[in-house]
Amino acid sequence: METKDKPSEKTLTAEEGTKPAVTNFIRSIIDRDLESGKHSGIVTRFPPEPNGYLHIGHAKSICLNFGLARDYKGRCHLRFDDTNPVKEDVEYVDSILADVRWLGFDWAEHLYYASDYFDKLYEFAEYLINEGKAFVCDLSLDELREYRGTLTVPGKNSPYRNRSRDENLDLFRRMKAGEFPEGSRSLRAKIDMASPNLNMRDPVIYRIKKTHHHRTGSDWQIYPMYDYTHCISDALERITHSICTLEFEDHRPLYDWILDQLPVPCHPQQIEFARLNLAYTVMSKRLLLELVTTNLVNGWDDPRMPTIAGMRRRGFPPEAIREFADRIGVAKANSMVDDELLFFCIREELNRTALRRMAVLSPLKLVITNYPEDHEEELDAENNPENASAGSRKISFGKELFIEAEDFSENPPKGWFRLSPGQEVRLKHAYYITCNEVVKDEAGNITEIRCSYDPASRGGWTEDGRKVKGTLHWVSARHCIPVELRLYDRLFTQADMSELEPGKTYKDYVNPASLEINKRCLAESSLANTTPGERFQFLRIGYFCTDYDSKPDSPIFNRITSLRDSWAKLSKKQ
Ligand code: ATP
Ligand code: MG
Repeated sequence: METKDKPSEKTLTAEEGTKPAVTNFIRSIIDRDLESGKHSGIVTRFPPEPNGYLHIGHAKSICLNFGLARDYKGRCHLRFDDTNPVKEDVEYVDSILADVRWLGFDWAEHLYYASDYFDKLYEFAEYLINEGKAFVCDLSLDELREYRGTLTVPGKNSPYRNRSRDENLDLFRRMKAGEFPEGSRSLRAKIDMASPNLNMRDPVIYRIKKTHHHRTGSDWQIYPMYDYTHCISDALERITHSICTLEFEDHRPLYDWILDQLPVPCHPQQIEFARLNLAYTVMSKRLLLELVTTNLVNGWDDPRMPTIAGMRRRGFPPEAIREFADRIGVAKANSMVDDELLFFCIREELNRTALRRMAVLSPLKLVITNYPEDHEEELDAENNPENASAGSRKISFGKELFIEAEDFSENPPKGWFRLSPGQEVRLKHAYYITCNEVVKDEAGNITEIRCSYDPASRGGWTEDGRKVKGTLHWVSARHCIPVELRLYDRLFTQADMSELEPGKTYKDYVNPASLEINKRCLAESSLANTTPGERFQFLRIGYFCTDYDSKPDSPIFNRITSLRDSWAKLSKKQ
């Protein structure tokens, strides 16, 4: 498969995103509004449509809106924009509640649904009709499109534009009563068909839909459009700053026009910022849904998905996602963010917090010839050298061990500092060993390494201060447990998934090696009883998280990310 790495516009690298943004243009606007007395406090909102699971782009918006409320001691509402019952579902509502909470934010009692405002929205629509600002239109969808014009061709007035107030009211009420079929009529705002802004060309504000709604059931035969609903919901909740992504910039005149016509309690300010685009992934809900329904991934919480549920299952800490959101900051221009910046934040967090453990991905047997038969001992191993309060654990040591096959070389290249014939290395937390013999099968494959150990080097150091260059991880053959590792890589092979080669679809860029399962891995016994969601550093291998499918008799770990050093490549070669 051909890959082309062409990040669009600017790519923010891990090095560039070094310091959290202290301020940004949104904060400047808020500072000004507070200073001038326009507002005495701020109210923001995060307004997802419950038509899919949240993804890392939503996380940016959540961190921004809830973060501003936190920093300015205001509040942030969680509001479901549930105006399109066709695509919406309670499963999505529940997942969104869980995801926002998991990210570390709290809406307190400020949970709202646009559908709670359906009565109010309807009243306002009648108000617009009474004011001569809205009319019932009988054009079909195709005709609406044709009458709308284009960027270069002005639109044409609907033949129904000059209906009387009474006729409009009567027809709108009958639309509500369910008298007309879907698509036969709509309610439109009466603005300006010649406007250069297509959104202002008498936009539809209500359409007939005879669909069951997840909250209002079959109460409604008509549903308000997003643009109409959103600004009114903001005003009813007395939002001060309505922060959205750049594609809504052209909708702002409509947002303002609607609020200007209506007796609403306030007029929030819409502010747009650039959405997050992350390299090597897609974020369109339509594509994410398709990945799920076509089984290209194993569900919304597949650890390869950019969804919050997927990232949680994979083991990304919420702290790291918040840190990532702070580092990328907010801007007015679209850009592509390198996924390494996200992994940088994850490693920083996990280096501080993840408990260290030992596991061998590709085991090679090692026998210590001068170690007493049937003897075994317990050695002390610190849980996290970065954090003394993480304490230590006991690990079992015996005559037979397993080391990583790649840590031994019979004919080492120059500069080799791992194990090779005659070379002394340290076994982490244990002893110094020297390789004396290599055992092979008939085909010439190495089956066993025989070493001697220095009993005076217990704990991994000697009194004579003798130095060794390499330190290897290992497990005791008698005590280790088999575990399954799920090794994840990028879901797509191209950084910028918004620019595909002609004739190709995103499916042509799915990485065939995005999931590798390793069932040969042997791990120290303390990994037998872990809880799904627990995170570890497997020494020299990477960060791992216990999967939801894990059972005490068959533990399963997801690789969160490799370590930065090249040792991590071991896992790739499985
Ligand atoms: P769609 O509207 O096509 O269903 P959406 O991604 O806009 O998809 P919403 O549920 O409407 O989904 O999004 C909720 C909020 O999250 C919106 O305010 C939106 O601007 C913001 N948001 C969505 N995607 C991103 C992104 N990639 N970066 C930053 N904010 C985003
Ligand atoms: Mg949206």
